[in-house]
Amino acid sequence: MNIQDSQLSAFRAEAREWLERNFPKSLAGRGDAYFDISPRYPEGEDWAAWRKAMGDKGWGTPTWPAEYGGGGLTRQEAAILRDEMEKIGAFTPMIGIAQSMFGPTLLEYGTEAQKQRHIPPVCRGEIVWCQGYSEPGAGSDLASLKTKAEDKGDHYLVNGQKIWTSGSMHAQWCFCLVRTSNDHKHEGISFLLIDMATPGVEVRPITLISGKQTFAEVFFTDVKVPKENLVGGLREGWTIAKRLMQFEREGIGARKMTVGELRPLDVVAKEYVGTDEQGRLDDPDLRARIVRHQMWERAHRLTVERVAEEAKTGPSEATSVLKNAGSIALQTRGELLMEIMGHRGIGWEGEDYTQTERDSARQMLQNKAHSIYGGTYEIQANIISKRILGMRDHQ
Ligand SMILES: Cc1cc2nc3c(=O)[nH]c(=O)nc-3n(C[C@H](O)[C@H](O)[C@H](O)COP(=O)(O)OP(=O)(O)OC[C@H]3O[C@@H](n4cnc5c(N)ncnc54)[C@H](O)[C@@H]3O)c2cc1C
Repeated sequence: MNIQDSQLSAFRAEAREWLERNFPKSLAGRGDAYFDISPRYPEGEDWAAWRKAMGDKGWGTPTWPAEYGGGGLTRQEAAILRDEMEKIGAFTPMIGIAQSMFGPTLLEYGTEAQKQRHIPPVCRGEIVWCQGYSEPGAGSDLASLKTKAEDKGDHYLVNGQKIWTSGSMHAQWCFCLVRTSNDHKHEGISFLLIDMATPGVEVRPITLISGKQTFAEVFFTDVKVPKENLVGGLREGWTIAKRLMQFEREGIGARKMTVGELRPLDVVAKEYVGTDEQGRLDDPDLRARIVRHQMWERAHRLTVERVAEEAKTGPSEATSVLKNAGSIALQTRGELLMEIMGHRGIGWEGEDYTQTERDSARQMLQNKAHSIYGGTYEIQANIISKRILGMRDHQ
């Protein structure tokens, strides 16, 4: 065994022993409680203890520098940690916009003072951040955003409106794209950090058809933002915004595909549809489609791992491919599950249906959003054609 291998196996032993001591067994396999677009931490003693243990150790943000509260691990060590967690049904409690998008971007573009102030609470899972990008007239064409920040000497004065701001009802901070110049479209945008408790910030939740509230409209009326909250230079916000979206798409593309019903689809299908005399699923057409989907899912998962291993400087344009492939996998799975369950898959409420059956229709509908947030399917296709395939716009 060479030195590197022996160091890695020593790390594996350390990780296993630490997890054994610190991961509350009552939470084994319950990582799905986190799977929600709106980042909220479940309540309860064990959840709090697990979050604190991972936060103190820095392993919720394993590869971030230890000096800011991260784990300081190499990518290989982080992969070992993930592997050891999976073995015992453990999961990272640090899931959210702060860890997946904001933190990595601030580590690249923030000043030393901004990193010292904002990164440690993210590593400890103490602060919820929201993303103030979209506006009523600026979604796919994000750079046409109008929320403006005027220079008032010692502060910026922000006025405008954001929409679809996930988790903003619970967020303490918002990273926000604002217009600081009307002379240029993209180059007139700046990246500002706004404390949601500042006077003039108003959050109006949007109620979904399911009755849930996962996002909101956010209004800014004469909101005073200290100048030190500008990230990067003035009017350099678009470059930072694009980098953040790569982190966002990397997270979305890599997301676990099995939410709700955790068993493999072929196993569930046999239960609902039945088997033939050879023990195979008793519907050849459905069988073929399930196998095709499982191959897609597996290929997607392996590609996500390969891209992550090959990436030397973090995510690239390849994240657009992964996001779209992930959308197809997730949406196909939801639709197949509904079909497998038949009429039982459309049970919305009531004791006649199992929890899994009741979840399936909601999950299938929620999966539709996967190809919208983080930039739509069509916009990813545009990015792939222009920046990866080098194709030009047809005039
Ligand atoms: C669940 C959910 C959570 C969200 N969370 C956040 C959040 O936290 N923060 C935030 O800022 N935003 C958030 N969004 C907003 C999301 O980023 C936007 O909805 C998305 O970028 C699309 O913008 P739009 O809704 O304005 O649609 P539009 O831009 O109006 O697009 C409408 C349709 O036209 C298509 N289209 C538009 N332009 C083109 C083009 N050039 N070529 C081909 N097709 C095109 C689109 O693909 C889409 O199908 C969230 C959205 C959802 C659904």
